[in-house]
This record gives sequence, structure tokens and C-alpha cells, in this order.
Amino acid sequence: MRASTILIAAFVRFATLAALAASVARAQDLPPARADTPPAPKPSIVLFTLDTTRADHLGCYGCAAAKTPRLDALAKSAVRFERARTTCPITLPAHSSMMTGLEPFRHGVRDNAGFRLDEAHATLAELLHAAGYATAGFVASTVLGRASGIAQGFDVFEEPRRGTAAEMIYPSIRAPEVNARVRAWLARRDPARPFFLWVHYYDPHAPYEPPPEFAAGAATPYDGEISAVDAAVGEVLDALADVDRSGRLLTIVTADHGEGLGFRGEATHSIYLYEPLVRVPLLVKWPGGPAGTVRADAVSGVDVFPTVLEAAGVAAPLAPDGVSLAKPGAADRHVYCESLDPWLNHGWSPLFTWAGRDLEYLHSTAPELYAATPDHLEGEDLAAARPDDVARLAAGLRQFVEERAALGPALAASRVALTPERRAELAQLGYVGVDAGDVTLPDPFALDPKLPRATPERLERFTRATTPRKDLTLEAAIAEMQAIVADEPGEIAVLDALGRALILAKRGRDGAKVLQQLLRLRPNHADAWSNLGACHQLEKEFDAAIACYQRSLELDPNGPGALTNLAACLKKVGRDAEAAAIRARLEAQKR
Ligand SMILES: [Zn+2]
Repeated sequence: MRASTILIAAFVRFATLAALAASVARAQDLPPARADTPPAPKPSIVLFTLDTTRADHLGCYGCAAAKTPRLDALAKSAVRFERARTTCPITLPAHSSMMTGLEPFRHGVRDNAGFRLDEAHATLAELLHAAGYATAGFVASTVLGRASGIAQGFDVFEEPRRGTAAEMIYPSIRAPEVNARVRAWLARRDPARPFFLWVHYYDPHAPYEPPPEFAAGAATPYDGEISAVDAAVGEVLDALADVDRSGRLLTIVTADHGEGLGFRGEATHSIYLYEPLVRVPLLVKWPGGPAGTVRADAVSGVDVFPTVLEAAGVAAPLAPDGVSLAKPGAADRHVYCESLDPWLNHGWSPLFTWAGRDLEYLHSTAPELYAATPDHLEGEDLAAARPDDVARLAAGLRQFVEERAALGPALAASRVALTPERRAELAQLGYVGVDAGDVTLPDPFALDPKLPRATPERLERFTRATTPRKDLTLEAAIAEMQAIVADEPGEIAVLDALGRALILAKRGRDGAKVLQQLLRLRPNHADAWSNLGACHQLEKEFDAAIACYQRSLELDPNGPGALTNLAACLKKVGRDAEAAAIRARLEAQKR
């Protein structure tokens, strides 16, 4: 893993040097450009990523109840892709694919937590910046903050502020706040430079609480959130109307994934690879390009990268997994998608798909096969009835993964190794063996047949025990979660939720046992280390708590809960200067 990191890092550096050498050579060797042959101006690029937005909830994708006038109007002047899929129904891996043109098994980001996009990757923003573009990214959730690695190459990058301990989940901002930042940047940008502008909206992500003006008349609150985002896209497009009219704007609108909304038991997203989760809207408006065209070939989030680079006239330094959408689509193309979330967080089979225009193969310990339906929802599982198709598509998936992986192994996602000092310190506290090294990710073609597949029953049981609701007392939730982990000791997400619940119930000893069980399965789980610290803190074991918080912060340096609690524990044991330094770090985060 290490060797590949170095190799690719060197390659990127080499590519930059080569570009530099080429520009020097141009300056020295070529005759001065003649006034009558000015170089064609490069197009500016705006990429909108609408978090959690299902294609079939937009008017231009046939949803009669949708109130999405701006996207519907854009579709009339753009190419609309009917069968666009994400590479992973999880925010950071999906965006990493758009920004690198690589499948998750090559860019290495397999989940939001515990992974980051390695600096060695050449991203769209880095390549466009090197080509003279102004690059600006505005994200609405800290899932895509600087700490995720996705900001590399952006001259200007703005994300929501990290909150305090009271706000343990990823903070997010609404579309009007994103747009205020975008407008401020547009007002100060250099009009002579082409730009790459990335705008990310988070509004359709749960919880669905649209502003009143969009809630009124919406079919559901989720649809109200989508209307709010539609209006926000429209506002930015209005601000860019001059660039568009001059024929120098490439506009791309897509989503990182869809939303289950209860389909087969999944309320939100991240587990299943069924159409509601992985089908995304994709509208591409090229300068002077075709308008009102619909394409039905299978395309993927990895295609964004080569499409943008081609429009900008920039060569990609690595062979991307995607293809430029400007090229005619291949009717027989199949696209890849994965979710390791069932495996990483629940101890269930990981899921993979290989989907074409007509058939969709779902690879797991219990494979499925579905035919395309007019409403893009999976119907009857045809796997048993059509074994030849299953075998053919499984072979296609395997060939694709093996060929692409051979082009450049996935970089090891950046993880922080345990220092010898911390290992010794933790061992003194009794945490022997928790650093079993990085979890080895499963080989899709050598899955342990005993791994259960995600089912509506499993998902519903998990959701019932872990979703707060009025009729569920804390003690009842704890009992339900204890019953689940008794049946499925590898249910990481339940161990995590149970640990938190036991902290809320002030049962530090019980919580520590559960979190130690979790850390044996996932030694690099930053939140589990932080919560284990909280268990020790509850029991007034401040030195143990300090060691756990410090380990958590090695894995997630900005974890606000760990920082706040660490400062309190340091103060308790009289390490006032260190406590003050931690509090200063927290204050700096808030600014
Ligand atoms: Zn997302």
C-alpha cells in the first residue's frame, strides 16, 4: 500500500513538472502568438452536487408532483442522463469518485468515517488550478470538509464551522447560506480567468424540514427540500447567466446518491444498492452543445472527471475509470457501484453492482438479478431463473474490478498509526490487543459465505432500536440493542449506538465493555475511542479517559466532543496548561 502511495505521489509531481517544463518550452521556443489567432478561451465550469437527491423526484425525470422548475428548464437546454448511477450511496466516497474519476476501490475512500481522500490523488480542482483556472468549492456539510481531503486544489474552499460537543454530528448549512458564500466569491473573482466552481447543497438530507415557502404544496417534506435546492441552483445559474450567454460555461448538475424513503426497509441511504439509493439525476449543458437530449446508456459518477477535463482541454494524469460524457454512449456499457457500509458497520455482506441498460446484477453472499423496469425500481429477483445472466454479469464485474485495480492499486486511505508511546500507555490501562492494525477490507470475490445479507428485517430492527422516538425510553432502547448484539456480535453500528446510550444512562462500566467489544472489531474507530473516554470520565478515571480522548484525536484531530472532554479531564488532574491549549484549539475551530 505504501509503495503505491509513493509511486502515485511521484507521478503527480512528475506530471506537474512536465506541465511546467512544457510551458517553459512553449515560452522559449514558440513564436509569439499572433494577434489574429487568439487561443480559444477555456470554458468555465460549474458543478452542482445535490446531496441525497433522487432522480425520480424531479419534474424533468417524470415526477408529475415535483416542483423543480429550474432543473426542468435546465434539462431542456442540456443533455439529461436517464441511467446515471453513483459509485457508492455514501457522500464522501461518491464525491471522491467525481473529483478523481476513480472507483472507490481505486481512490480508497470506502465510507465517510475513518477514510479520507489521499493527498496523492490528482483531483479536478488540482488539475484545473494547474491549468490556470480559479477554483472555488462551497460545501454544505463538514462530511465534505477539509479534513476529508476533498478540498485539495481549491483556491477558495468554504465549509460549515465545526460545532461544539453538543453538536456531535456533522454540522451542515442550508442552501441560502451556501449561495451567499457563492455570490460573495463570484463578486470578487477575476473575470479574466476561467473558473471551476463546485457548489454542494445538503438540504434534501434527513431530517426533512423544508422552509415554509417550499413545504407548502410539496408532496412530502423531502420533496420540499428538493424544491429549495432547485431554487438555489436557479439563483446561481442566474448569477452566471452572462458567462453562459457568452458560450463559455459547462454546467453539470448531479447528486451523490438517492434516498431509500423506506424502500425495502431503508429509510435513508448507505446500505442498499437498489435504484432509489444509487440512481442519480445528471444534467450536462455543454457550451453550444446539444439541448433537450436524453441518453439512456448507463453512466456513472466517475464520468464527471473526464467530462470536465475534456471540456477544459486538460489531460488526466492517470487513466480514469470513467469516460467523457461528450462521447457517444456505448449501449452495452455496465457501471460499478459498491457499499461496504453493511460490512464495515454491521458485519453483513458488502454489496456490489454491475448494471447495464437492461439488467442489473447485485453481487453479495446472496446474488440478485433484476431487469430494468419503467419506474426504475427493482421488481422480481431473477437470479434463480436466469443463472446464465448471473454468471455472465458476475464475470463482467470481476474482470472490470481486476483490470482497473491493476492500473493502480487503491491508495491506503490515510489512517493514523498508533505511536509506540500511546500503545504502551493504552497497554498500561489494560487495552492490550485493541490495535490489531487496519481492518482488512473484504475481497468481493472471496466473501465469507456466512456473512448475512442486509434484509428489510435486519434494517428495520436496527432502525427501530437506534432511532429516537417518543415511545422508546432509554432503558427500552438499551434492552433492544443488547438483544441485537447478542444475536449479531459483529453489529458495529449497534455497539456504537449502545455505547452512546449507556453513557446517556450514566452506566460507564457497561458502556466501556460494549465499546471495547467495538474497538476489538474496529481499532481505528475515532468515535468509539472518544466514547470510551466518556465512560472512563463518568467513572472518574481521568487518566484513562485522557488516553482514550488522545487516541480519538489522533484519528480525528478536530473531534469537538473529544477536545471538549479532554480539556475538562486535563483540568481535573491539574494539567491546566495542556487544558488551556486544548481549549484554544476549540476556540480556533469556532472562528
Ligand atoms: Zn450524501
